[in-house]
Amino acid sequence: MIDLGKRSIMYLPGIGPRKGEILRKEAEIVSFEDLLYYFPYKYADRSRIYPIRSISGNMPYIQLKGRILSLSTLGEGSSRRLIARFTDGTGTIDLVWFKGIAYVREKLKPDKEYLVFGKPVEFGNALSMPHPEIDPAEQATQLTGGLTPFYHTTDRMKKAFLNSRAVQNLQYTLLSLIRWQLPETLSEDVLERTRMLSLSEAMRNIHFPESDDKLRAARLRLKFDELFFIQLNILCTAAHRKRAFEGLPCPVVGTHFHRFYHDYLPFPLTEAQKRVVREIRADMGSGRQMNRLLQGDVGSGKTLVALLAILLAVDNGYQACLMAPSEILAAQHYATLRNFLGDMPLELALLTGSTRRKERQRILSGIASGAVSIVIGTHALVEESVRFASLGLAVIDEQHRFGVEQRARLRQKSPGVPHVLVMTATPIPRTLAMTLYGDLDVSVIDELPPGRKPVRTLHRYDSRKAELYDFLRKEIERGRQVYVVYPLIEESEKSDYKNLEEGFRVFCEVLAPHRVCMVHGRMKASDKESEMRKFVSGEAQILLATTVIEVGVDVPNASVMVIESAERFGLSQLHQLRGRVGRGSEQSYCVLVSSSQLSRETRRRLEIMVQTNNGFEIAEEDLRLRGGGDLEGTRQSGLGVNLKIANLSADGPILHYAREIAGELLAADPLLEQPAHQRLSRQLKTRFGNKPNWGDIS
Ligand code: ADP
Ligand code: MG
Repeated sequence: MIDLGKRSIMYLPGIGPRKGEILRKEAEIVSFEDLLYYFPYKYADRSRIYPIRSISGNMPYIQLKGRILSLSTLGEGSSRRLIARFTDGTGTIDLVWFKGIAYVREKLKPDKEYLVFGKPVEFGNALSMPHPEIDPAEQATQLTGGLTPFYHTTDRMKKAFLNSRAVQNLQYTLLSLIRWQLPETLSEDVLERTRMLSLSEAMRNIHFPESDDKLRAARLRLKFDELFFIQLNILCTAAHRKRAFEGLPCPVVGTHFHRFYHDYLPFPLTEAQKRVVREIRADMGSGRQMNRLLQGDVGSGKTLVALLAILLAVDNGYQACLMAPSEILAAQHYATLRNFLGDMPLELALLTGSTRRKERQRILSGIASGAVSIVIGTHALVEESVRFASLGLAVIDEQHRFGVEQRARLRQKSPGVPHVLVMTATPIPRTLAMTLYGDLDVSVIDELPPGRKPVRTLHRYDSRKAELYDFLRKEIERGRQVYVVYPLIEESEKSDYKNLEEGFRVFCEVLAPHRVCMVHGRMKASDKESEMRKFVSGEAQILLATTVIEVGVDVPNASVMVIESAERFGLSQLHQLRGRVGRGSEQSYCVLVSSSQLSRETRRRLEIMVQTNNGFEIAEEDLRLRGGGDLEGTRQSGLGVNLKIANLSADGPILHYAREIAGELLAADPLLEQPAHQRLSRQLKTRFGNKPNWGDIS
């Protein structure tokens, strides 16, 4: 099967080049194995047959058994339909087809007994069942026990006669071809320890369930399989990296750190900040290279933690750098650190794309000689010309905006491999973090500095704009500043810019004489900077922007965040935006403006925002709403996780279990060298062998 599994799907009886092409394009099924791992998304119970008398419009998919009384074709054009009046002696129901009329009509014979499977709908007093499956009763339950699987199919697949039913038939053909046997992927000891079904039995039951119990066990086995190998891979990679990269030792907590901590710190650290600083100290002092992800909600005080880590590196004779995703942010970090450090004798430098040439030369030679100990910058830092004398720590803020490759390049800037601290404000649910960053150590700041008033979030329909303007005017007159954010899905979308510009005109007019400034992605960097500066300095009270302000800007006096067309933003984006306010001691507000025509899911998103300020709750909910199975985010992030059956939002317990088992296994056999584990290492190679090594990602 190992070789068979890779065989092209075109060679499966019943599939030729044309269907093969459609399966590839529509369902990413290329090989035999891809087909087997194309799992049903749901099952319907076909063990029961319902009397027509007992059915109603709110029943799910059900099964009927009976005969056709009459066939007729009604209507013209798109409302043309075939109606089969169907009875089982207890009542009648109309079976209706809008498509494939000729084909169905040909197939149906009066007076033959049929099994019908579909969803009843009630209209007025009449019951009907659109597009049911219908089969002669004597052959219908041949393949399936009671449970019928449903496979996702697209219109193009259906047009090529590849409906759910056809996919199941293909599975049958394939499984028969391989005699219902697949080579096992788990080792005997893991199978024994976990008491999972064999892969063959699981695969048979996922496509052709013998019973509810067997199906449940099959799903468990396949989910476990998927998550177990991911965890095994992550843990192996992490172990490998720990062996391969020695860390630059930072055992000393020295003078700068102590002086800053005791004399310069403007406020006591929160307990969470203290804990994280301890974790970082232990890491950097351990003699191994630190790879740590620092998660903390917006405003939780990550910058200060970064500064303490930087001082630790400096005290041990190394340089440190802090990278931000934009010039505005880099400049802000620079100012913040300068301010924190006061007159401490440390050489700081800011290096961005717009640093003037002469200045740049000076900074570059300072970095190369070691005279500059702390560099703050943008991606300009990873450019070819930057060479460090001895870089000991790289802090990366908001890692989403930073490419994998850029991070990898940073490692080559200096003789040793620097410690890496990645900071993110995007809360990642634990299960996702374990899957994506399972080889990084994770620190969490789960506490905000004291004295913050939680942001109050309101949801308003755009038909009530006048009230909103009144509210904004009042807040501005009390000395506050206001952000107004417009969605911009595509940088090139004309209508979005029109909305923004129209908004600008309206706000200028309605809120005069208060001043409005505007920032968007199409502006030149220098214009952006100068508009931003107007807002930061307080010269302008209202900042209209597209999502360019999403990340990191700190204007404590801004206390109102208005989000226009809030229905067009995702949950985590809304949460990020809200985090821009609520940094001062004033009561802050976030106003979500939307149309009143909202889908159920969108309404739910906005409700969650109104209900909670907790980033982790929001992230969990986001994962649930988006369905942990599809994982858009992870696919886009290019981390190569593509889950076929496990669902990170629902399968947390299985994930934890898989990690535990993988950990135990590696504790006993760290390199998977025992003969009994050959199978596992071979699996790792085939599954992850040609993907980038996750260990090098962060
Ligand atoms: P983020 O985690 O979003 O990067 P920042 O580091 O920008 O948050 O911190 C947000 C604000 O909170 C800053 O103004 C910072 O000075 C302040 N801050 C950080 N730590 C504390 C603390 N322990 N007590 C009071 N204020 C703090
Ligand atoms: Mg920050």
